[in-house]
Amino acid sequence: MTMQARLDRTLEMIERSLRDSGRVPSSVSLMAVSKTHSYKEILDLFGCSQTLFGENRVQEVEEKFPLDRPEGMKLHLIGHLQSNKVKKILPLVDSIDSVDSLKLAQRINSACLAQEIRMPILLQYNTSAESSKSGFESEDELYTALDAISEMQGLRVGGLMTIGPLVGGEKETRSAFALLRELQQTCTDRYPNLDFSTLSMGMSSDFPLAIQEGATMVRVGSLLFGERLYR
Ligand SMILES: *Cc1c(COP(=O)(O)O)cnc(C)c1O
Repeated sequence: MTMQARLDRTLEMIERSLRDSGRVPSSVSLMAVSKTHSYKEILDLFGCSQTLFGENRVQEVEEKFPLDRPEGMKLHLIGHLQSNKVKKILPLVDSIDSVDSLKLAQRINSACLAQEIRMPILLQYNTSAESSKSGFESEDELYTALDAISEMQGLRVGGLMTIGPLVGGEKETRSAFALLRELQQTCTDRYPNLDFSTLSMGMSSDFPLAIQEGATMVRVGSLLFGERLYR
C-alpha cells in the first residue's frame, strides 16, 4: 500500500466517524505519529499533504529532524518530557502536548520567558488510572496546576490530551474519552481566559471511538506508517 493510500484510508475513516456521530465534516485534525520511522518516510507523507507530525522522545527529534524543516511542517512532542531536556526541545517543536505536571509547566515557562517566546501546550490527563501512563492523576491536581499556569506568560494553553486505556474493551475506552471531554467543559467554565478547544485523543486502534466522544485531534502512527520496529 502506498503512503498516499494509507493516508486516504485514514482520512476516510475520520470523515466517516464524524458523519456517524453527526459532527461537522473536517473538524478533526490528523497528527501522524512518526516515532521509529525515518525522516524519509516523514517527507514522503508530507509530500502527500500531511502537515502535522508527532514524536514522543526528545533524542529522536534531535537525531531525526533537520533544523530547517520544510515550510509548513509542524511537529509536536507527545511523550513524557524530563525537566532537564526542556531547553533542548523548545526550538525543535511547535507544541508540547504532553505537559503532565506543574513542575514541568514551570520549567517550560521559565525557559520560554528567558527566550522571549510563548510555547503552545496541551495538558495530559491520565483518564484510565493506568500507572504505566503519565498525565495528571486527579481533577484537583489539574486545577492546582491550571491556577498557576493561567498566570504563566511563557505558555499558551490549547486544550487537553489523553491516551486511551491499553487494556479493557470499548466501554472502558469510551468512558476514558468521555471523561476528558467532561474535563474540557469544566476547565472552559473555570478558566474563561484559557483556550481548551483542542481535545487530543485516539490512536490507530481507537480513534473512531475518540471522534464519537468529541476528539478534535487524533494521533495515528501504525495505520499510516505500518508496524513499528523497536531497535
Ligand atoms: C505512539 C503513540 C501514538 C500512536 O500510536 P499508534 O497505535 O501507532 O497509532 C499516539 N499517541 C502517543 C502518545 C503515542 O506515543
